[in-house]
Amino acid sequence: MTNLTSERLSQMVKQRGIELGFDLIGIAPAQQPLTYRYYEQWLSLKFHGEMGYMERRREERKDVRNLLPDAKAVIVGAVNYFVPDEHLPETPEPRGKVARYAWGTDYHEVLLRKLEALLDYLRALLGDWVKGKAYVDTGPILERDFAVQAGLGWFGKNTCLINPKLGSYLLLGELIVNVPLAADPPFIRSHCGKCVRCIEACPTGALVAPHQLDAKRCISYLTIELKGSIPRELRPLIGTWVFGCDICQEVCPWNRKAKPTKEEAFKPRPWASLELIRLLELSEDEFRELFRHSPLKRAKRWGLIRNACVALGNLREVRAVPLLVQLLHNDPNPIVREHAAWALGKIATEEAIRELRKALEAESNETVRQEILLSLNEVR
Ligand code: SF4
Ligand code: SF4
Repeated sequence: MTNLTSERLSQMVKQRGIELGFDLIGIAPAQQPLTYRYYEQWLSLKFHGEMGYMERRREERKDVRNLLPDAKAVIVGAVNYFVPDEHLPETPEPRGKVARYAWGTDYHEVLLRKLEALLDYLRALLGDWVKGKAYVDTGPILERDFAVQAGLGWFGKNTCLINPKLGSYLLLGELIVNVPLAADPPFIRSHCGKCVRCIEACPTGALVAPHQLDAKRCISYLTIELKGSIPRELRPLIGTWVFGCDICQEVCPWNRKAKPTKEEAFKPRPWASLELIRLLELSEDEFRELFRHSPLKRAKRWGLIRNACVALGNLREVRAVPLLVQLLHNDPNPIVREHAAWALGKIATEEAIRELRKALEAESNETVRQEILLSLNEVR
């Protein structure tokens, strides 16, 4: 043990966190999250859609001491991932848009490494009795709640954590430890004021009220988490987003002065802007190779192709017709065939219509048949 005070220890941990590349770091007490009942409410409204994992492990979400029994503190670190548009790689048109947080190397890897290094630091300082559990996005912990408790920012009406100096392009990681560290004051005030820009700008109406997201309507959910068909009525609202969406952050006045990230790993990689037509012909092997270190691997090959079909349909992109026709006739995944049919119906060239009619004769999957029929009806 050491005779360092909890205040001094907190200072040292935060200093080390900054050296490790966190832009913000704070300490929250290891207690119940303040917004647990809102999370329960959100679940009861079924706003989580198919994200079954959000419903699981509620006891652990209710109190971090159920994750680490002798937990004393939660260290919360945030890394700014903002990169201006002009730093995007040159990609031939038509292009699919990717949410900024996914432009660089998979953030899970990057933030976990920093948190583990922080734990090593504490062990080296205090001894092997130090225990810690690190989470980046995936664990049963209400991470934005702890970020607010650790003084990092407030919950914006767009449901993002916003810091008054850095804005909301922040990725969060938490390290729960059994070390008594002095907590920082929580960030109590919201600085959203009367602003409702994010709510007004959301193309799908997913922000149903301030601070309340119906994930089932959110483009992030639709393009990443949803494992089935994208609801027909929402497809035209997705535009050219193929992985996530940044609109409610782009319109936020607190992001006007966002500064470029210092984190090398978050500089844009080739997948930051995607050539839509090229996506249609991606094989499983190419997909795995291209997205090995990218957050985009979560969408799976068929998911990205589904999203590319929607984007190309929205663009009425005639050059995509030959590849869409191939997918419609030959892709083994009915969700891909369904969305290829939808895109062809939107593009509606003579060839597209002819091939939709042909596919109707051969198609045995009822959902795909329905899509073809609806698409043909709409072009008549
Ligand atoms: Fe709406 Fe896009 Fe924000 Fe989702 S990410 S709430 S779709 S603006
Ligand atoms: Fe808050 Fe306005 Fe930003 Fe929405 S756009 S999070 S209301 S400041």
